[in-house]
Amino acid sequence: MYRSKLADERNLIIKLNIALVIVLVLLAGSAVFFTLTREKAQPAFSGDGATYETDLEDEPEIEPDPEAASSAAAHADQETTIKEDADMDEFILDEDFDPTPPLPRAELIALGDTGEYRAPRIALTFDDGPGWLTPQLLDILHEYEVRATFCVIGNLVANNAATITRAHEAGHEIVGHSWSHPDFTRTAAATILADINKTADIIEQIIGEAPPPIFRSPYGVYTSRVRNAARDAGYGVLNWSIDPRDWEIRDADHIYDFIIENARDGAIVLTHDIYQSTIDAMARAVPALVEMGYELVTASEMLEYVYGSIEPGFEYTGMRINGGQ
Ligand SMILES: [Zn+2]
Repeated sequence: MYRSKLADERNLIIKLNIALVIVLVLLAGSAVFFTLTREKAQPAFSGDGATYETDLEDEPEIEPDPEAASSAAAHADQETTIKEDADMDEFILDEDFDPTPPLPRAELIALGDTGEYRAPRIALTFDDGPGWLTPQLLDILHEYEVRATFCVIGNLVANNAATITRAHEAGHEIVGHSWSHPDFTRTAAATILADINKTADIIEQIIGEAPPPIFRSPYGVYTSRVRNAARDAGYGVLNWSIDPRDWEIRDADHIYDFIIENARDGAIVLTHDIYQSTIDAMARAVPALVEMGYELVTASEMLEYVYGSIEPGFEYTGMRINGGQ
C-alpha cells in the first residue's frame, strides 16, 4: 500500500507538472498571438482615428456629411446651368423645348340628371375617294382604333374594291357621293335620283350590304331638286359643320389647326382623302382628337345622335360651326 501510495503521489506530481507546462505554453502562445494581432491592426485603426479626431477638433461645426455635400454641389451646378442657359439667346431655340400648349380637354356631356357623363362625339368624313392615298388613311384610323365615313365616287368603287372592302370590314361607313361628281344644280331631278341609286348599288355590290340612307351631294349643293331626288330615293343629305377647305388649302398644319380649334360635340368634319396634306393632317388630328377625349363615330351614328333619326329629303349638317358648302 505504501509503495503504491508513493507511486501515486509521484504520478500526481508528474501530471501537475505536465499541466503546468501546458498552461504556460498556452499563456505564452496567447501572449504572442495578441501581440502580433495588435501590431497588425493598430497602425490602420489608430491612423484613421487620429485623422478623424483631428478634424473633429479643428472644425467641429462642419462635421462632414458626404450626401449633403454632394447634393449641395449638384444643386449649385444646376443653378449655374440654368443661369447660363437663361443668359443665352439660343435658349428658346432648344430642340428639347416645345412651346406648344397641351391639347384642350373636350368637355364631357352630361346625360340628363343622371349624374353620368359620356365622351363628346365627332364624325370625320372623307370625300372624293377611294384613291391611292386611302389605304394610308385606313392605316391611321386602324392605329388609333377609330371609325370614319367615306363618301365615295361611284365610278371609282369597282377599281378600288379591295380598299372599299377593307374600310367596310374595319367598321367604317361607306356612303355615296354621286357616280361621277356632277353639278346637281344643272341636273334633272330624275337624273339625280338615278345617280344616287346607281352609286348605292355599286357600294352594295362590293361590301355586300346597302349603305346607310344618307348621301353627300357633289360640291355640297342642296337645292329643291336635290332635296326632292333624295326624298324619292329615301336618302337624307349629309352635309357638315367643320370645313377646313382642304381641297383648296393644301397645308397639313392649317387643316390640323382648323379641325382642332373647331372640334366640339356633334360636329361633322368634311375633308378629302385624295390629298397628301389631308392625310398628313389626319396623322396628327386623329390622335389629337382621341387625346382630347372625343369618341369618333360614323356619319349615320352622328345623325341618329344629333337628330334622333334620318328622314328622306332632309339636310343634315351636324352642329354647324362655320358656313360653307
Ligand atoms: Zn366631292
